[in-house]
Amino acid sequence: MNDSAADARAQDAGARNDDANGADPTRPGTGDGTRAVRAGLPDPVKYEPTLPGPVFAAHFHLPGEPTGPYTYGRDENPTWTLLENAIGELEAPGRDDVETLVFPSGMGAISAVLFSQLGAGDTVVLPSDGYQVFPLVRAQLEAFGVEVRTAPTGGDAQLEVLDGARLLWIETPSNPGLDVCDIRRLAEEAHARGILVAVDNTLATPLGQRPLELGADFAVASGTKQLTGHGDVLLGYVTGARGEAMDAVRRWRKIVGVIPGPMEAWLAHRSLSTLQMRVDRQAATALTLARALKERPEVSGLRYPGLPDDPSHAVASRQMRRFGCVVSFTLPGREHAERFLESLRLVDEATSFGGVRSSAERRGRWGGDAVPAGFIRLSVGAEDPEDLVADVLRALDEAGRPVSGS
Ligand SMILES: *Cc1c(COP(=O)(O)O)cnc(C)c1O
Repeated sequence: MNDSAADARAQDAGARNDDANGADPTRPGTGDGTRAVRAGLPDPVKYEPTLPGPVFAAHFHLPGEPTGPYTYGRDENPTWTLLENAIGELEAPGRDDVETLVFPSGMGAISAVLFSQLGAGDTVVLPSDGYQVFPLVRAQLEAFGVEVRTAPTGGDAQLEVLDGARLLWIETPSNPGLDVCDIRRLAEEAHARGILVAVDNTLATPLGQRPLELGADFAVASGTKQLTGHGDVLLGYVTGARGEAMDAVRRWRKIVGVIPGPMEAWLAHRSLSTLQMRVDRQAATALTLARALKERPEVSGLRYPGLPDDPSHAVASRQMRRFGCVVSFTLPGREHAERFLESLRLVDEATSFGGVRSSAERRGRWGGDAVPAGFIRLSVGAEDPEDLVADVLRALDEAGRPVSGS
């Protein structure tokens, strides 16, 4: 590409990052599918691809005064800009006062918020049933002099320990227990006490839930899961209103150097175009599978927020637009659960979730989560629903048969 084309593209990306997060009246269409396929695309340039390829650059031509948008590769990259615009359009459609920052992993994004907003003497409220790395995060925060309080997600129990905190961290639906809390209620109570609110939106994806519209200050997520959905990229992001808090997150990214590669950023953007198809298909199959599991006598503790009689359903229906692709349940003991996982043919035995290929694991194998030995987290993929349900039911039959041959 010649310099003027690159320049036009950079200018365009910079301009869109500055003033248009989906509010562009020349881009009609407000449905989730339309938004997902067009999110973050630059205005068409003759002979340029629709989604420009990854820009591999450690530095950019920069004669004279060193002003942006693109100076040095640790600060900004045009491929990030397009992806940040795209995620911003999905997390906060129509808002032009919001910005998104991408990170090389969900933990990169989470740490950037926690460590840029909190200092010695501050208090943070974390979920006690959140992502499994939180105990390590807690130890690091405490080592830096931050007081950490925890409470469970269900029943909005974090409200009880809010007083005097600086930041409230919410994870809803929680991973892996799938409890849900009322984001709007927690955010109102927190803001009344001058407390910032961050929501981990990994499991829901921005098509399932928009934390900023529910009052949160930050929507934070791992893009490694359903957002990108193919199990081949690690990514994270933070979305929030422009201002001091997001400036601090940006400064953290710059000084820690926690930046995604252009190739990963581009792959993620490419994957966003199918987000609506994937989340709709996977959520519909997850509900079908949950209904089938409900009929099985060996299954207990079944959770899926989309099931009408799930304890989370009432709150989830008020704040979620789709209920996600993760179903959790408990089988009678560790061996039973292991036989089930070995018998599956269409479901990979693997950690993580949200991919187009179904996966499942016995969560207790990691230690850390407070779950029964037979607890299974199953992530529903994009297979044909009949095939997947048949495979799961067949594996349950096999796992339930008395062990033979001895
Ligand atoms: C996976 C996950 C993370 C961490 O994301 P990485 O991309 O693995 O760093 C954070 N929160 C939740 C809810 C997750 O599932």
